[in-house]
Amino acid sequence: MDLRRLLDQHFGFREFLEGQQSIIEAILKGRDTLIIMPTGGGKSLCYQLPALVLEGITIVVSPLIALMKDQVDALTEKKIPATFINSSIPQAEVESRIQRMMRGEFRLVYIAPERFKSERFIRALAPLSIALFAVDEAHCISQWGHDFRPDYLRLKGALQELHQPQVAALTATATPEVRRDIVEQLGLGRSGRQAPEIFVSGFARHNLTLAVSRVKSHAEKEIRIMEIRTALQSGIIYCATRKNVERVTLNLRERGVRCVAYHGGMTDENRTRAQAEFMSGQCNIAVATNAFGMGIDRPDLRFVAHYDIPGSVEAYYQEAGRAGRDGEPARCELLFNYADVQTQEFFIEGSNPTREIIADVHHALVRLCRRGPIEMPIAEIARALPETTNEMAVGSALVLLERARFIQRDYRAGGRSYTTKLVEPVKSLDQLQIDFARLDGKRQRDFAKLGEIIAYADAQGCRHQFILKYFGDTEAAGHCNVCDNCLSRAGIAARLPTDEETLFVRKALSCVARVSDRFGRGRIAQVLAGSRSKEVVDAGLDHLSTYGLLSDVGADYVWTLLNALIDAGCIAVSDGQYPTISLTPLGGEVMRGKKNVPLVLPARVGSKAAKGKRTKSSGPAERAESEFGNDELFEALRIWRREKAAAMGNVPAYVIYSDKTLYELSRLMPRTETDLLRVRGIGPGKARQFGAETLGVIQQFVKKSG
Ligand code: ADP
Repeated sequence: MDLRRLLDQHFGFREFLEGQQSIIEAILKGRDTLIIMPTGGGKSLCYQLPALVLEGITIVVSPLIALMKDQVDALTEKKIPATFINSSIPQAEVESRIQRMMRGEFRLVYIAPERFKSERFIRALAPLSIALFAVDEAHCISQWGHDFRPDYLRLKGALQELHQPQVAALTATATPEVRRDIVEQLGLGRSGRQAPEIFVSGFARHNLTLAVSRVKSHAEKEIRIMEIRTALQSGIIYCATRKNVERVTLNLRERGVRCVAYHGGMTDENRTRAQAEFMSGQCNIAVATNAFGMGIDRPDLRFVAHYDIPGSVEAYYQEAGRAGRDGEPARCELLFNYADVQTQEFFIEGSNPTREIIADVHHALVRLCRRGPIEMPIAEIARALPETTNEMAVGSALVLLERARFIQRDYRAGGRSYTTKLVEPVKSLDQLQIDFARLDGKRQRDFAKLGEIIAYADAQGCRHQFILKYFGDTEAAGHCNVCDNCLSRAGIAARLPTDEETLFVRKALSCVARVSDRFGRGRIAQVLAGSRSKEVVDAGLDHLSTYGLLSDVGADYVWTLLNALIDAGCIAVSDGQYPTISLTPLGGEVMRGKKNVPLVLPARVGSKAAKGKRTKSSGPAERAESEFGNDELFEALRIWRREKAAAMGNVPAYVIYSDKTLYELSRLMPRTETDLLRVRGIGPGKARQFGAETLGVIQQFVKKSG
């Protein structure tokens, strides 16, 4: 059979996209298939083309009701007879479409998963000759997935009643558990069928430059975002929280950058407007949470920047993959500050409540609802618990208790929250059907996924390879030469450290030896760099004899050094949720100067001599100077600048100070006019015009923070 001809004739495409041809061949041979391709990889064609050839009808189950009509319209336009059945059409029309299906009028029929709840519906399908049963977004069947839909669980039973037709399951999610679940839940390769063929393809995106930038504060992130946007003009900036979306939007607008904000807390109307403005190209920058995704297929985005680390490699790559859809070069940059991991940990704790939390909520509800239904916001219920608890976790516990039919919740329009009442007879926690082992498993998996994306951020090797390996895509190995690591490695090979570097190595190792197995590499890097961050001070790490040993080389360099020592086997990293580091026997020998090992170390910018000028200056500026800008001071300065700009007749902010200057001010904390003049971007003119006020803001900050 000439598949190319069919492709051209019916779909107007000249070539198959990666993977499509072999998938179609397997389907035409009658094999059950599991097809894993990223969004936009061309999955639909994998069942649409066979549907034209195979004897019988192709049923497509899809949860994306909003897109069904478009897909059917597109097929109809290509003269391929197709229709859809979902809740948007009246019952009489459903009946009529079923009748026409029976008469063989359609090649493809798209069906929403909830239809399979109805026995009657399944019975109506039974006499059909089903050529192929395609399950789109098949990961929805897996409780390990991010998008579990209980309706999908009915498909297994439905398939059995339909005499186990040939199945093609399609998804962009690829973790091994999800894959196993799909194969199991859809009964792929069952009932005398051959084992399923699994295809993973299309994850390689050679036009994307993958990069990670280490940042230490909001200020640094904002500077980097401005640099990226100035160079690349159109793109999406993803943030983990609504608050950060607002912060970044405000910041960009202050700099005269037009951008739209998008997050789940906005009204539908505002979101639709934002999306339309962005999609039409009226506005080229979107700042968004992960709520921004569905239907974003603007092909000409030159960058996707992540202001915060997301929760998994999948989430990251799906979002980053929205860059460069047109095949032209684009940049995907993750701004990584280890401290941001906490936000994701908070989300994981929040969406996976422990048994203790569920028990506390159960207990509190029995008490609160004793006298009848209550109308109480989640925050208030959280306050009624014996221990302070993540509010999000309380919300998740309520959902679980509702699903287990312990409570019933109703949302009244105009009411300020749910009305909650106990379902009679009131059951104890043990009597409820809640699978705690499964919940624990999911929480562990979520933490493991977070661990993977942190590993990606820390990876020293090729980032493209990392991603392909993660998804199980077997594209050619080797280096890509477009990710930051490959680009920099092109110039760096492992070599023996110089005398100066050997000294750094021994200092770093002696610090690791001192706190062996107690802290992660982020904390140790902070200690060595002499950070005054809260975590360091609270843990008393600033009293260690090794504190600040490498403060003159910079935190970034210390981080690179620790990673190089891990790669070389001098430092070991533990497994688990919070990996700690410790010295290996080899590391011990190197520390004592008994051995020298080759390391992958970049040549150091800003050597002692270059830095000396400023750090050796005496006076108050030096006392306060740190490697890190102070976020709070930066913020205070920025507010002052905003007000000043407004007072000066809404002049652009940079007329006063650039972000870099604000950052330097927050780092150096000058106290006198002479110190002020040492700050980059402040000359005598600026000092005269804004000096007194600037010093005032700093003074106030110092007084407030002691
Ligand atoms: P997925 O379901 O994997 O997200 P789609 O099936 O929607 O992706 O396909 C993404 C886009 O690629 C669609 O616009 C589709 O028309 C196009 N496409 C699919 N196959 C080919 C092909 N062989 N050649 C060119 N374009 C294709």
